[in-house]
Amino acid sequence: MTSAAKAKMMQDLRQAGIADGVVLAAMEATPREMFLTGHFKAQAYEDATLPIGHHQTLSAPAVVAKMTEALEITDRMKVLEIGTGSGYQAAVLARLCRRLYSIERHPALLKAAEDRFRQLGLVNITTMASDGSLGWPEQAPFERIMVTAAAADVPEALLGQLAEGGIMIVPVGLDENDQHLLKVCKGKTDIETEDLGPTRFVPLVAGLSSP
Ligand code: SAH
Repeated sequence: MTSAAKAKMMQDLRQAGIADGVVLAAMEATPREMFLTGHFKAQAYEDATLPIGHHQTLSAPAVVAKMTEALEITDRMKVLEIGTGSGYQAAVLARLCRRLYSIERHPALLKAAEDRFRQLGLVNITTMASDGSLGWPEQAPFERIMVTAAAADVPEALLGQLAEGGIMIVPVGLDENDQHLLKVCKGKTDIETEDLGPTRFVPLVAGLSSP
């Protein structure tokens, strides 16, 4: 069943306008059901946002693909993800870049994600249980940053840790019904921001969650 469902997802992604073959291949290579639990596994390849526990969600495949494509990653890049969650987005990113750093504030979610990375043999992911809005200063700068929780504004610390010529994708807006996905490009002297359209993410929350 899974392979037919996955084939349908791939067709949906192409129809949604995802054209980057490398991104499509990374999505195809990543078993989405592994990142879900219980009966949500059966819905893994549907065009749906699904719960992953602790009131958090895994975005629909088309959203993951759109954000990944917008990041324009190459295999020499060092990438930072904020909000590891289930680890699905991280697994897709890790197939495209040299090394992925991913930060999650829920230790239990992070532990489950790390187990999945191990099972999949994804050895180029380094994780940390922390408040991702502060970034990862010891590892900065990053050529690409993806934030997978909604911030009030583009987080200053992350902008500071973005390399010159770098790109950050971040959902901005605390009102669930008025959030926009922003693509932030950091030039030598200026910051360019492009609105990629309305979106819906759980909020970026400060501090580490108690286990
Ligand atoms: N990228 C995830 C989906 C993330 S849902 C996936 O592929 O499954 C958003 C995630 O961001 C949640 O797991 C939430 O706990 C985490 N999060 C929210 N605020 C955070 C913060 N300040 N630092 C790190 N992680 C955070």
